[in-house]
Amino acid sequence: MHYHGEKRLEMLFVISQPEVLIFEEVRAKVKQSPILQELQAKIEQGEMNSDWVFRDRLLFFKDRVHLSPNSPLVNFVLSGIHDSTHEGVQKTMLRIRKDFYWPAMKTTIKDYVAACSVCQRNKAVNLSPTG
Ligand SMILES: [Zn+2]
Repeated sequence: MHYHGEKRLEMLFVISQPEVLIFEEVRAKVKQSPILQELQAKIEQGEMNSDWVFRDRLLFFKDRVHLSPNSPLVNFVLSGIHDSTHEGVQKTMLRIRKDFYWPAMKTTIKDYVAACSVCQRNKAVNLSPTG
């Protein structure tokens, strides 16, 4: 009976990591994105430089998972990383940049945080000047 409890705990630990869930979702969606499919083909044909790697069913650029900017995955990653912490643009950016890359990601992250209703409420309380 003890074994059951231990196993369940182990599983919970794995599932509760947002990055793990995000990677799984990205794997599933790479197949549905024509842009990523095209990139994958180019990598496999040796048309891209060595910064690009297709590994473990994921597309990497300089060791970070590459997403196309218009992909719904961008929002999925943003909400997965930001919505649990509601950190500012810089911290959200650092966390996402550790594992992911997409073109103009700074703008996307800025817009996402600016549009976040929870962050807007927090900002109104702080009344910090913005540049
Ligand atoms: Zn927020």
